[in-house]
Amino acid sequence: MSILELEDVEVTYERRDRVRFQAVAGTSLTVGRGEIVGLVGESGCGKSSLARAAVGLVAPTAGTVRFEGRPVEPLTRRARSKELTRLQLVFQNPYSSLNPRRRVGDQVGDAISTDGSGRSGKSTRVAELLELVGLPANARSRYPHEFSGGQRQRIAIARALAADPSLIVLDEPLASLDASAQAQVANLLLDLSRQLSLSLLLISHDLAIVHHVADVVSVMYLGKIVESGPTTEVWASPRHPYTEALIGAVPHPDGTGTMPEVLPGEVPDPALPPLGCRFHPRCPHVMDVCRSVEPALNSAGASRLAACWLHTLEAGSEISAPPAPAHLRP
Ligand code: SF4
Repeated sequence: MSILELEDVEVTYERRDRVRFQAVAGTSLTVGRGEIVGLVGESGCGKSSLARAAVGLVAPTAGTVRFEGRPVEPLTRRARSKELTRLQLVFQNPYSSLNPRRRVGDQVGDAISTDGSGRSGKSTRVAELLELVGLPANARSRYPHEFSGGQRQRIAIARALAADPSLIVLDEPLASLDASAQAQVANLLLDLSRQLSLSLLLISHDLAIVHHVADVVSVMYLGKIVESGPTTEVWASPRHPYTEALIGAVPHPDGTGTMPEVLPGEVPDPALPPLGCRFHPRCPHVMDVCRSVEPALNSAGASRLAACWLHTLEAGSEISAPPAPAHLRP
């Protein structure tokens, strides 16, 4: 059963030059109970906008977002604290979301509902949460600046857990950490999800991390999901050239990556997405049809989806052109 459902979500922004663009261009995604879903893509692909729409921090311009069966409406912080405590968000930079002047124990304790157990109950719960995320007991009386980046992200996770959530959306939670801290926090997330039957939506530009942690992965390019499926299967046999390129970009043990050869060029301006397949200017397999007709996200095997004409042709289906614009019809 899905705990979070996003259906045909669009998020549109206006730039300083007043040009409007779609950061999210019609995207559907679900997260099951106790499931870890990874959402990967390059910077600027719209994944953070999708995360913000998922938790009600931005209003979708189209589509629906449902959490535990109820619509997620854009909320003020005050309303959020009452209605959506079971849906938490952890940001990339924990330091900016922690109050530097307040002790860690107080900040974690703020989100705990005492349920009549009073101060001693809250104090006990803070101790449990700090232990759960691997922090020493004396962390409660210290300030955020006394901790490393990885420890501060653990504090942010403890604070999210204090609200007893069923889902945490994590927006690039490991991006500002060194490799060793990344691995430790990634393992912590995996353990917490299994131990607490907690659902996670993990947003990351790093497919290697998502491969390590997530049960299911969705790959996003220029506002749209281009591939999704069980993580191990997608990693072993990607169905979309962009996914293939991301996997090729994962650094080898000798420290090198292959991205420049596999995936040339930049992500296009979302205000001027390419006609046809949005990936075609960078795709090594581009065909004529790719330049004019956008492929839909179709079945690409059991539990697999891909938006690529290559896969459609391999499956033996015909490519159907979209209807002509009204002014060109006879
Ligand atoms: Fe490449 Fe064409 Fe597939 Fe797009 S539809 S990813 S351009 S082969």
